[in-house]
Amino acid sequence: MQPTILSIANQKGGVGKTTTCTNLGFGLAQEGKRVLLVDADPQASLTISLGWPQPDALPVTLSTLMGRALMDEPIRAEEAILHHAEGVDVLPASIELSGMEVSLVNAMSRETVLRQVLDGVKRQYSHILIDCMPSLGMLTVNALAASNRVLIPVQAQYLSAKGLEQLLQTVSKVHRQLNPKLAIDGILLTMVDSRTNYAREISALLRETYGSKIRVFATDIPHSVRAAEISAEGKSIFAHDPKGKVAEAYRALTKEVMRIEKQREKHQADLGR
Ligand code: ATP
Ligand code: MG
Repeated sequence: MQPTILSIANQKGGVGKTTTCTNLGFGLAQEGKRVLLVDADPQASLTISLGWPQPDALPVTLSTLMGRALMDEPIRAEEAILHHAEGVDVLPASIELSGMEVSLVNAMSRETVLRQVLDGVKRQYSHILIDCMPSLGMLTVNALAASNRVLIPVQAQYLSAKGLEQLLQTVSKVHRQLNPKLAIDGILLTMVDSRTNYAREISALLRETYGSKIRVFATDIPHSVRAAEISAEGKSIFAHDPKGKVAEAYRALTKEVMRIEKQREKHQADLGR
């Protein structure tokens, strides 16, 4: 079985990519899935928020592995992989990854270096989630080229139609030129303030605009300080505030993602018959 490789992407900063990557990953692990979280952002927020506060001190990180792939050396990804107490594995980033963006520009097969890195470990996992950086540069293109699915977190209050359009164009270009397996799972509304109707209006607008082409997840992630607190705690929302509304939302999102996966598998099986 091929694992699900899901990029969490949006070039807009601070929309909840890292928070979603982490908690969807933990949610899937709680459902018995074998999960690897990949930090593809030189800011290393995912690595830091999972309890490795000094990623620059880690001896081997994603940029080391991508460097080995570029040099045609053995990748040995297991040297970089960290194990979190809540049952997920983590491929950490460090600031060195920002140099990779530059090295990739002139490299051969520059769009598929991350895919090469993941090829060596993907058999061990059912789900690999990639936390993208807030840009549409080479690292994000590498993430999309390595993935079969994309999830797009969007902050309802600050939806940029133009930004979303650019992101969709990039996904479609990667799909056409590099990775025919790539498809969009859906748009996820994050940091939703339940006191306003904004989220409902925005999700109606998104559904109207993109219609049948792109799913807007039925689950919204509510705004809550509880979600903001976990970045300093090194644990999931399920450990930090298990009964809260954000934990409930990420549990629902996990179920929704798994349901979509089942439908897709069934659809593919039907096509194969
Ligand atoms: P970047 O583009 O910088 O990588 P990001 O898209 O990964 O950002 P996050 O880091 O997940 O976004 O979230 C941005 C900030 O919002 C963080 O401080 C985070 O703790 C906070 N946050 C995330 N989700 C929620 C939520 N549901 N409610 C309130 N705050 C949240
Ligand atoms: Mg982030």
